[in-house]
Amino acid sequence: MTERYDFLVIGGGSGGIAAARRAAEHGARTALIEAHRLGGTCVNVGCVPKKVMWNTAHVAEVIRQAPDYGFSVASNNFDWPTITKARDGYVQRLNGIYKKNLDASGVSLYTGWASFHAPHTVRVDDHELQADHILIATGGRPTVPDIPGARLGITSDGFFELGHQPQSTLVVGAGYIATELAGVLNSLGTEVTMLLRKKTLLKEFDATLGDTLMTEMRAAGIKILTEVRLQEIRTEPDGTLSIFHDADQTTTGFDSVLWAIGREPLTADLNLDHAGVQVDTEGFIPTDKYQCTNVDGVYAVGDVTGRQALTPVAIAAGRRLADRLYGGHANAHLDYTNVPTVIFSHPPIGTVGLTEEQARAQHGEDGVKVYQSRFTNMQYAVSQQKPATVVKLIVVGPKEKVVGCHMIGQAADEIIQGFAVALKMGATKTDFDNTVAIHPTAAEELVTLR
Ligand SMILES: Cc1cc2nc3c(=O)[nH]c(=O)nc-3n(C[C@H](O)[C@H](O)[C@H](O)COP(=O)(O)OP(=O)(O)OC[C@H]3O[C@@H](n4cnc5c(N)ncnc54)[C@H](O)[C@@H]3O)c2cc1C
Repeated sequence: MTERYDFLVIGGGSGGIAAARRAAEHGARTALIEAHRLGGTCVNVGCVPKKVMWNTAHVAEVIRQAPDYGFSVASNNFDWPTITKARDGYVQRLNGIYKKNLDASGVSLYTGWASFHAPHTVRVDDHELQADHILIATGGRPTVPDIPGARLGITSDGFFELGHQPQSTLVVGAGYIATELAGVLNSLGTEVTMLLRKKTLLKEFDATLGDTLMTEMRAAGIKILTEVRLQEIRTEPDGTLSIFHDADQTTTGFDSVLWAIGREPLTADLNLDHAGVQVDTEGFIPTDKYQCTNVDGVYAVGDVTGRQALTPVAIAAGRRLADRLYGGHANAHLDYTNVPTVIFSHPPIGTVGLTEEQARAQHGEDGVKVYQSRFTNMQYAVSQQKPATVVKLIVVGPKEKVVGCHMIGQAADEIIQGFAVALKMGATKTDFDNTVAIHPTAAEELVTLR
């Protein structure tokens, strides 16, 4: 039997749920299809469980710092299952809340894998669903390389399934997921080695951030091997994993290998050719500024589009699409510039706007000025360990418009959101200078740069 809707959404993650609920609230007859757990990557195997683990690592760090503040606290009894069970319970509660919210908004939910039968017809199990407007919000999955033994490793999905804390982990990758999970494991006491194909971490961010982070991660005890080409993973007779790389070199003794080398879009099983929807060479679905694909009435938002892969981006793009289609906002679309983001590394990073390299490429060497400061957060004034904080402003033109604001250091994750508002409003260095500082904080350094 064919069921008809106004709006059909494939994928119940950040973007899909946001778009479906907003469309239904505007009065559109809406259905959403999700193959697995509601909430998608962010809720189940991304932001949410990751932040719980990052918070756990933070507690471990505070306990380590406690003696410097006069407390004697034992930190030798961390129990991995206690926190992972609590974390999974929290995620399950969120799954339930998402279902309740869909019901409250009047969205019909179908569980199963959706695939196109025709441009405006989708099949899920025995159901055939039709709609004038169909949104693809199927997200992505972690990439596993094509080398012998690759399946002996786990991905970020597998990290959240670990029943016990690994003793010695090799993290392969240099992006934000690699640095975040390496930092968490290291703080909790796992011996961590990172393996990078190139020389630097976080290549798509301002170079100062990656360079500072690499120094801090090494100082915290993480071994970082650079410019390594991994060729094979093997299991040794004692059950540990060995890796073989460049010119017959071997590194041994890992009990887990974690792939964090990128993510690929979930488009292969959608039968997109039945709808005529085009994908790029990597399988991402290109969209215009209104999230339209090449097929009339078929849209895409979130990670599947290959644009900034962040939950709030997927949500904002989805809501604006629904506002445009059903809310009477004919021009609603997401502005993808100056999207702030945080890397929950150790120390954390907050960043918004152009990198120094991008600013110089766009505005010329002479049009760019950089203000930067490096200091120790007062949190560490009485501590043995003194991780660095670096703040950096990139300004352009005679009015010194701020086009980039970058920070690594304690609390950067909470500080950057407010500065993103300033950038979005077009603030200049003078506006920053005219803002009275809050003392004593790390944030004040951003309005007192000289
Ligand atoms: C380890 C990790 C940490 C992260 N941390 C952060 C963070 O701190 N902050 C942040 O902003 N972002 C973070 N992200 C990124 C964030 O999770 C994604 O950008 C976001 O989830 C993308 O939302 P989406 O709607 O595009 O896709 P998803 O959330 O991936 O949802 C897609 C959904 O579609 C379903 N689906 C796929 N194909 C089909 C089909 N054919 N039929 C039915 N259902 C289908 C999937 O099961 C999935 O539930 C993190 C990601 C990872 C992996």
